[in-house]
Amino acid sequence: MSDMRELYQEMILDHHKHPRNFGRLTGANRHAEGFNPLCGDRVTVYALVDGDSIRDLSFEGSGCAICMASASVMTDELAGKSVDDAEQLFVKFHDLVTGESAKEPDLDVLGKLAVFMGVREFPVRVKCATLPWHALRAALKDGEKAPVSTE
Ligand code: ZN
Repeated sequence: MSDMRELYQEMILDHHKHPRNFGRLTGANRHAEGFNPLCGDRVTVYALVDGDSIRDLSFEGSGCAICMASASVMTDELAGKSVDDAEQLFVKFHDLVTGESAKEPDLDVLGKLAVFMGVREFPVRVKCATLPWHALRAALKDGEKAPVSTE
């Protein structure tokens, strides 16, 4: 398990140092901003949505390693998926990082998102990890409304 943990930590740091899909997305038709006042994380998620499918995703912002890595992995994993799939992954990811669900995390379905499993040991970091997801959800729902906050 400790090897696994080191691997996960390395992946998170790598995504933090070299974020994927960073920057404003050309052609995006949805976006929403999220703010986590507990940590100071701020992230804007851009999405190009076509009907029920998320064609592409990107993000901008600044925050701690967990938040930036979460946005990076999320945009990587969800681009090309359907809006419904994204919603289901949000629920699974939330269970993964909070450890609230009694069920074992479905690592096959979570894919790279599983690297955030260690977050459940640091409850104060849960909002850092879920912030980009809250922003994405807001973007998918109504796009151009007020910024979301984890509070
Ligand atoms: Zn944070």
